[in-house]
Amino acid sequence: MRLRNKPWAKEKLMQNPKIVIQEPEHFRGRWSEAFAKKQLLHIEIGTGKGRFITGMAKQNPHINYIGIEKQESAIVSALDKILEEQLDNVKLLNVDASRLVEYFQKNDIERVYLNFSDPWPKNRHEKRRLTYKSFLRMYESVLVDGGEIHFKTDNQGLFEYSLKSFSEYGLLLKDISLDLHNSGMEDNVMTEYEEKFSAKGQRIYRCEVKYLN
Ligand code: SAM
Repeated sequence: MRLRNKPWAKEKLMQNPKIVIQEPEHFRGRWSEAFAKKQLLHIEIGTGKGRFITGMAKQNPHINYIGIEKQESAIVSALDKILEEQLDNVKLLNVDASRLVEYFQKNDIERVYLNFSDPWPKNRHEKRRLTYKSFLRMYESVLVDGGEIHFKTDNQGLFEYSLKSFSEYGLLLKDISLDLHNSGMEDNVMTEYEEKFSAKGQRIYRCEVKYLN
């Protein structure tokens, strides 16, 4: 995600520690303590400007959400949305998701959302894709048994690669759509990228996969 540099972003994130959790390792194994209510936890990796995670939090007040985003200039827009909507069931982590196991342990999370993840098209960058097997292993180590990944992208190459990666890992392919916006899914919450790409006429791919533990 290319962004305007926002030198004030870091300070604004630090000024809102109830929403942007500063020491996430502190909550490992007891994330419900960070929220108003003890309820299931879903996370999104690569939250960007937060349209999806805040839309989901509004739509599903019975679920707690965490948006993980490494770029300060993007996640600060997610913070603005949470402040504006006064949502108490969504928190943010300004960290790199490759360190997920430092912040979460087995059974902390019920579902992982990956939306419009960077495609890393070159073969030599395969390991950076968020659907590469080492990431799938990492998600497994923090999810509940039978936990799920819900994945959306406009990128056909990444989608095909990811279906193969999920399948080779032994995940159950539960639901696959090759054209989400013409699939009849009524409660779809769009992301910023989804809005941009679908406005250009690009179709959106989506799948739900499940760990069979
Ligand atoms: N999900 C948003 C959307 O659909 O509008 C943003 C999509 S953007 C293409 C991908 C985002 O993932 C970027 O903001 C990037 O900084 C973030 N990202 C990529 N790898 C990440 C990682 N390992 N940890 C945290 N964020 C990551």
